Amino acid sequence: MGSIRSLSPDVRDKIAAGEVVIRPVSVVKELIENALDAGACRIDISISEGGKVKCLVNDDGTGIAHDDATRAIERFTTSKIQTLDDIEHIATYGFRGEALASIAQVSRMEVETSDGTKGTRIVLEGGEIKETVESFRSKGTRVIVADLFYNLPARLKFLKSSQREKQLIIECVREYALICNTVQFTVTADGREVLNIPVARNFEERVRMIVPRPVNDMMVDSTVHIGDMRIKGLFTRPDFQGRHTIRYLFINKRPVKYPRLYRTIMQVYQDPKSSPAFVLHIEVPADTVDVNIHPTKREVKLRDERYVTDVLSQGLKQHVIIRAPGSPVMIQDHEPGPASLPVSVTGAQFVQDGVFNLPEQQSSDVSFHEVHEFWQVHNMFIFAQTRSGLIIVDQHAAHERIIFEAVMHGRSESQHLLFPITLDLNPEEYRTYRKTKVILRDLGVDFKEFSSRTVVIDSVPTDSRINRDDLAGLFKDIDGLGNMIKEKAEIAKVVACHTAIKAGQRLSEIEMQSLIDKLFACEHPYTCPHGRPAVIRFSMDELAARFGRT
Ligand code: ADP
Ligand code: MG
Repeated sequence: MGSIRSLSPDVRDKIAAGEVVIRPVSVVKELIENALDAGACRIDISISEGGKVKCLVNDDGTGIAHDDATRAIERFTTSKIQTLDDIEHIATYGFRGEALASIAQVSRMEVETSDGTKGTRIVLEGGEIKETVESFRSKGTRVIVADLFYNLPARLKFLKSSQREKQLIIECVREYALICNTVQFTVTADGREVLNIPVARNFEERVRMIVPRPVNDMMVDSTVHIGDMRIKGLFTRPDFQGRHTIRYLFINKRPVKYPRLYRTIMQVYQDPKSSPAFVLHIEVPADTVDVNIHPTKREVKLRDERYVTDVLSQGLKQHVIIRAPGSPVMIQDHEPGPASLPVSVTGAQFVQDGVFNLPEQQSSDVSFHEVHEFWQVHNMFIFAQTRSGLIIVDQHAAHERIIFEAVMHGRSESQHLLFPITLDLNPEEYRTYRKTKVILRDLGVDFKEFSSRTVVIDSVPTDSRINRDDLAGLFKDIDGLGNMIKEKAEIAKVVACHTAIKAGQRLSEIEMQSLIDKLFACEHPYTCPHGRPAVIRFSMDELAARFGRT
């Protein structure tokens, strides 16, 4: 691993920083990721009382050079990225350089590390270094985190029982073990070994080690490899029946939550007797997935989302639904059947096939079937050709309209932020928050309240984008509503405005397509919730007239 440097302020500004330490499992997750980034072959985890009293993670990775060791624990120091450009091609689990610093802040921590030459042991308390000494150990790193939140009693109240916290940790380890088959993982809880997962030869062997029978017996392999994308998964057959919680999704080896992909899988199975169990790994080029949208890196955004979902659903139909014994062979839809799936199909073709298949009744007077190409102009407007002319879409206004209608009609599921954003409100903002929290909750923005005007945002409407800066302005704008502050629709407009794509944000072709699809599925696609135009249309006649052609 390269040497550890401090990130420059402009890179810091661009990363979705936030709180990464919410409970013991967050500590274990960050330490496992560091060990994996360091190329460990073996990771041993030991916890006491569900990690509340102690979490220890020992690895045999590269270790940290003696001269770098104290820097590793400072905020925004990392060996994994340096420039803004690096954020676009992240191949490591970590890149923000804030996990060790955040954990150190809220615990008594000890780091012992060696790169095989000169070892180091650092002892910290509440983020303060108490001792740094030379130490002797083999190559690798051991981090002990004791008395988590000893200096933040409010956080302790939110922890679950030791038993529950232990289960969360075991579940987290199993998740990384599923996807890192060349690494051995062990977990010891209160002195007893509770998990020991040996190295496996490949993904499938590892999955079969971890997923229990009878689910395992009913799993079928589905692999699709097109261009530089590879989708590999084990899925239960459609006739599988049983209760389970086996729904694992990885993108470029990162465990993620991606509701859109879950929906795609459910759609393929149509009416399953039981919900399908699966372990799915999608590998795409690093620059086509944005991992920088959420502090925990749990949520990512695929640039070619539509393409990926199309390939996934075609692959599943071909390998799991049709081929599996006892499965219904008929696929009742009008998409090209799996038998006709051309293996050498290009991405473009797939995208074209899948894009314009929204139900007819959702369309308004601009037909989707007419839209062919998109250009984004100055990262602000989208130009799209239609059969009868041209439309220009204001990306921010359009997204505001989509979010507004989704939250007002209760169509938006809220997306849970695993590691929520904390806001320390001033007295005025706090008053506004108190007055509007019931409506905000109803709209999919959920909070937890701590003492002394600290609130933690937990959930936001699906599809929306939010960061700390967006939230800071939210209460100010809600306050500006004056005597309309109790009106749900008015608050929904403010929420939509703060969570929509901004002008200046570059969109991929797929994002443009998706935005336009969703806009025209709205009841009132032509204006933003404040009444500004979201779309302007030019017919060919109008253009011809402007050019004096008629
Ligand atoms: P990040 O992982 O985002 O870089 P961290 O705060 O988790 O930030 O770690 C800071 C740096 O410390 C890493 O970039 C890495 O160089 C070093 N480091 C942390 N843990 C380990 C480990 N287990 N083995 C080797 N190096 C480590
Ligand atoms: Mg890290």
